[in-house]
Formats: sequence, C-alpha cells, structure tokens
Amino acid sequence: MGDLKGKTALVTGASRGIGRGIARRLAADGALVAVHYATKETAAEETAELIARDGGRAFLVRTPLGTPGDVPALYARLDAALEEHGEPRALDILVNNAGYNIPGAIGDVTPQDFDQLVAVHAKAPLFLIQHGLGRLREGGRIVNISSAATRVAFPGSVAYSMAKGALESLTLALAKELGSRGITVNAVAPGYVKTDMNRQRWSTPEKEAAHAALSVFGRMGDVGDIADIVAFLASDESRWITGQCIDASGGVNL
Ligand code: NAP
Repeated sequence: MGDLKGKTALVTGASRGIGRGIARRLAADGALVAVHYATKETAAEETAELIARDGGRAFLVRTPLGTPGDVPALYARLDAALEEHGEPRALDILVNNAGYNIPGAIGDVTPQDFDQLVAVHAKAPLFLIQHGLGRLREGGRIVNISSAATRVAFPGSVAYSMAKGALESLTLALAKELGSRGITVNAVAPGYVKTDMNRQRWSTPEKEAAHAALSVFGRMGDVGDIADIVAFLASDESRWITGQCIDASGGVNL
C-alpha cells in the first residue's frame, strides 16, 4: 500500500465503476478523496460510505461535466467542501476519469455526439487541469483515464476514440510543461472492464467470454486492475514516469 497520508485527491466520475475503484484505493492509501459525480447521488454516497467503512476519508462533489460553467462550478464546490473539512484549498492528485460512450461508426456519428464526447473526455480534463494548476502542489500527480481504443481500432466508436486520442495528446504536452514543478502527467488506457459503461457488450455469458478471450490473461478487467495502476502513478514511487500512456488492458489484441 502506498503512502498518500496528508494528500488530497480529486477523482472525477467516482460514483461508480473504475472511478469508484480508484477513489477507494487512493483513500485506502491515506488520501482525502473528493468523490466527484454527475447525477447519481446515491451511488456517490455509497462510494463515500465504502471508503469510510475501510477507515478512509472522502466527501462528495457533484457537477455534470461537458456543460457551460462546469469547471468553475466544480472547483467552487470542491473549495467549499475542503473548507468544511478544515483543509487548505490544495490538491495533490487529479484523476480525470469521468466519461461515457456514445457508440457510432463513421456513418452514424452525429455532430452532437461528437461535441458531447469531446466535451467530457477532452475539454473538461483540459480545463479541470487549467483551473486546478494553482491548487496543485509541487510533486503533484495528474492521471488521465484514456482507453485501449487509441491503440486498437474501434471503428464502431470513432468519436469516442478520437476524444481519448486528444486526452493522450494533452497528457504528453502537459508532462513537459509541468515537469519543473515535479508534477507528473500520465494516462492509463483500460481495455474491457466490467462496469456500467458498454454493459450491453458483455450482457450474455457468450459475449463476456468473447471479450475475455481478447486479453492474454483470458478474462475481462475489474476495477481493481485499473485502480492499482493509478495508485502507483499517484504515489512517489512513480516519480520518474511522466508523459506516458500505460496500457491497462490485460494485453488486449497484442
Ligand atoms: P461508469 O461505470 O459508467 O461510470 C462513469 C462515471 O463517470 C460515473 O461516476 C458518472 O457519474 C461519471 N460521469 C459520466 N458522465 C459524466 C458527466 N457528463 N459529467 C460528470 N461525470 C460523469 O464508467 P467506467 O466504465 O467506470 O468508465 C470510467 C472511465 O474509464 C471513462 O473515462 C471511460 O471512457 C474509461 N474506460 C472504460 C472502459 C470500460 O471497459 N469500462 C474501457 C476503457 C476506458 P454518475 O454516476 O453521476 O452518472
């Protein structure tokens, strides 16, 4: 277990799925975790309860991303919550995880779908980082959750793949810019993880087996597989890694 005591983390999209797994793991490692979510309050509360049950500290921050004024609103709520907890308005770890897919091949994708996917997967992380830089302490960590869809062709989710590609370009550019402050910026690219997103893809045992077979380990990923990698990138042990996209797909389509 890493040592994140005294550190504060913001995990976007932490009410469910991969984000919940990351929030629980960072809290178990000692961080105070801001559990961000869009609308599913009960799920977010459950994340915070699970963290408390394990002896960790967390609070909720609700803000739908990809809407006008989203980022300032999120930080206003974060700052208010930090003040309530007697903590300074500072961050050590920012995990850009919130997102969803609107599947669509080139013949089906609409301008609205494209705008929404870019807004949540690329625009929101960019401005969350821009507005967060003043709060991010020296030696901070930024982890962007990308997708294996930037390495393996997914023509059925063309706009989603493009949005994740933009997130990886952001990762590389900022790693250079923020190095002088000891801040690392990395991306993690999951493959098939059993969460609510894309649930219809593995809705039957046959479909699940087909996706499991794409990994060299013969199974689908679980949220802990991704959270462990993010925890490493959030820790001091990863200080010499920056600007990288870590494949976290279990060797899908190698
Ligand atoms: P999930 O279980 O569906 O959870 C999505 C999370 O993101 C929820 O906390 C949700 O909040 C939040 N969210 C969604 N849209 C949002 C918005 N517009 N504004 C703010 N928050 C929003 O999804 P997941 O599978 O854990 O995915 C997490 C990340 O991993 C995503 O970036 C996804 O692209 C990436 N990823 C997933 C897989 C996979 O196989 N699952 C593979 C590769 C990459 P609410 O609960 O309030 O709705």
